[in-house]
Amino acid sequence: MVMAERSKAQVRVGFYEIERTIGKGNFAVVKLAKHRITKTEVAIKIIDKTRLDEANLKKVYREVTIMKLLNHQHIVKLYQVMETKNMLYLVSEYAPNGEIFDYIAQHGRMTEPEARKKFWQIINAVDYCHKNRVVHRDLKAENLLLDANMNIKIADFGFGNFFTGKEPLATWCGSPPYAAPEVFEGKKYVGPQIDIWSLGVVLYVLVCGALPFDGQNLQILRFRVLSGRFRIPFFMSSECENLIRRMLVLEPGKRYTMEQIKNHQWMQMDGGAPKAAPPSPMMGYGPKVGEYNEQILRLMQSLGISQQKTMEALKNDAYDHYTAIYYLLLERLKQTSE
Ligand code: ATP
Ligand code: MG
Repeated sequence: MVMAERSKAQVRVGFYEIERTIGKGNFAVVKLAKHRITKTEVAIKIIDKTRLDEANLKKVYREVTIMKLLNHQHIVKLYQVMETKNMLYLVSEYAPNGEIFDYIAQHGRMTEPEARKKFWQIINAVDYCHKNRVVHRDLKAENLLLDANMNIKIADFGFGNFFTGKEPLATWCGSPPYAAPEVFEGKKYVGPQIDIWSLGVVLYVLVCGALPFDGQNLQILRFRVLSGRFRIPFFMSSECENLIRRMLVLEPGKRYTMEQIKNHQWMQMDGGAPKAAPPSPMMGYGPKVGEYNEQILRLMQSLGISQQKTMEALKNDAYDHYTAIYYLLLERLKQTSE
């Protein structure tokens, strides 16, 4: 059930009050909104289904399936899906510090230690996707968002897909400056290697504040990517150069794997992998039966929201108002305890 009401320039969708537009894509607009009960801010991707053909509609539903599957601290969390005959609303975690693209445009390139910290978060999130048989296929600075603590949240699984290893993928995906050579050539690919290429471009962008491959038109860009040649600026360390060169390898089979990236000398500097947050069963997502957060359930009960119905919705992965409120409150609890 979705109700969109308009009153004095205040637009409501379900329990959410729309505040402003924060992003626009080809078929979607992304709005910042506030939940009326939890008062938490969320991002709502609003998709007009009437403007999509069959293939794009399928893509959108795949995006939803993938986001439901993924629960990771550095991936934008999906809270709720609302649907009407014509519209689809994807309610997700809001990343208030926006795109890393804009951050670099404003502040310039990062120092290598700063880039390393961000890159570890990106690598851990993408590694998690690959281990769940998901390829992102559109990794770029515009889809890497920053939360309130300047930590990475990967967004936009609009080009995401499942890979099997048996049946290769073939669709052209992503943004040309980040696209792997085999994608330019229209070859089939397994999946993870094209994300690795894009991540090589991402690392270059973080450290240099510029793209490794650029051109006035697609033809020039394609030529440069297929040459595999790019400039290394004087300020880049030789360890960083070495890692980028092993990711931006033309032949997909010879490109670095996730494990090799994680073990590379540049990644291992400053103490290597970030320390994992102390495990806390209270704070986890995706609770199993009987593992719900009592504190949140009691709080919801006090707001007049049935404990039974909330637990039912959580168990069924309903992505409805009940689960949304539960996760939004859980998120708030997590923030206040940090
Ligand atoms: P495109 O086709 O341009 O890639 P899209 O339709 O796939 O766009 P998204 O990439 O999901 O849409 O979102 C577009 C933009 O909206 C993002 O690049 C980002 O600036 C903003 N945005 C999306 N989700 C969030 C979020 N959770 N928090 C903050 N900003 C967001
Ligand atoms: Mg995008």
